Amino acid sequence: MSRKSKQKEVILGVVKSTHSHPTANWVYEQVKQEISNISLGTVYRNLKSLKEEGEIQELNFDGAMSRFDGITRNHYHFRCERCERIFDLDEQVDATLNDRIEQTTDFEVIDHRLEFYGRCHDCLS
Ligand SMILES: [Zn+2]
Ligand SMILES: [Zn+2]
Repeated sequence: MSRKSKQKEVILGVVKSTHSHPTANWVYEQVKQEISNISLGTVYRNLKSLKEEGEIQELNFDGAMSRFDGITRNHYHFRCERCERIFDLDEQVDATLNDRIEQTTDFEVIDHRLEFYGRCHDCLS
């Protein structure tokens, strides 16, 4: 395996191995343990390219750094406003929403994203 594809493989592995929806910085810290001379820029470039290849998702939240998700099929998230953790919700994606929007507009809907926010169990206790 070339050095380049090895780097990409390790980065993908790190993103897929967690449910924490990490930032690029977090991914970089993990990858460094395996490839000590990698740069943050290289990690960014690979995350971008993995996203373009459909291997990972990039999530953007208001005023926050991008977060990366190893699960690429549509699923809903809960974001804690206090600790900024992002949780996957075990809630079925409502495909009828797409149809409803298409019926009430002249838009073609590809899919939708749904994000709930509030406070998580840890922040409440
Ligand atoms: Zn919280
Ligand atoms: Zn997720």
